[in-house]
Amino acid sequence: MRRYDDQMEFVKKRIADLEDELQDTRRDLVELMPRQLADLLMSYRSCESRQDYDHWTCEVLDRIASGAERDPSISHLEDRGWCPLCKGGSSGPYSRGFALPEGLMRHLTGRGNTAQCPVTRAAFRMARYALRDEFRAADEAKRRATEARRATERLFLVDPSSPPCLLDERLWFQKERSAEELVRAEERLRDLNFQVEINENVVAYKLQYEEFVVLADPRPVGRIDFCVFELAKNKRRSCVATFRMMDNWKNDLTEKFRRRLVDACNTLRTRGSRSGAVRKRGAGSDTFPK
Ligand SMILES: [Zn+2]
Repeated sequence: MRRYDDQMEFVKKRIADLEDELQDTRRDLVELMPRQLADLLMSYRSCESRQDYDHWTCEVLDRIASGAERDPSISHLEDRGWCPLCKGGSSGPYSRGFALPEGLMRHLTGRGNTAQCPVTRAAFRMARYALRDEFRAADEAKRRATEARRATERLFLVDPSSPPCLLDERLWFQKERSAEELVRAEERLRDLNFQVEINENVVAYKLQYEEFVVLADPRPVGRIDFCVFELAKNKRRSCVATFRMMDNWKNDLTEKFRRRLVDACNTLRTRGSRSGAVRKRGAGSDTFPK
């Protein structure tokens, strides 16, 4: 046992030494840049969270791209120039330099299946490694705050394959509704015959249709999302079909909803029959359409 512990200790120390050496190499590479650019690329120390880091990288990229000089000798037709950091250009056979600013930005970020600039790659990895303790602490603080909110705030069951979520959780780039907007969305769901099930602080807007269940998600501004899945079937995300209704739809809402629901159910039946798991229709009672 003692020998195993010693070996593990040795491996951990070796990995830590290699990580430090790698970090030194990244710093050396960045410091080969002109002083002003090197200082810019190493100005990450005020970041205290991943969000700060994301803002910082955007600012750095904007400043590098805006400082790139056009080189008229490589194109008279469009603005093109070389990377101000690595002096590289496009690897394409018919073009030199990068189109400014979009082509250069793709090179600096590695976006769009492009090989990233070795200097920004080293600089951003250096920053993330140096900030790893801050990220960890910020992630932990965020996790605790979310746990505290989950114990006291209303949670929404919107997907059978995921735990209930907070009003503003997993909305990606969508904003959450205000309390008044949420009441209006609930009225719309009641008009579509949805039942509101409340279990402690978890609410679910639910509708049963033939052998399927529909869960509604009224949280995002401007629309209601629906998740359809088969009653009593396993709760994998691949077994659901989704559709949505926009708030600005005014006419024939029941019919619009019914058509989308029938399409979603047919999609699930087709998937079920492909996997040889066809279930007899009519296993549940219908509450829709009227
Ligand atoms: Zn470059």
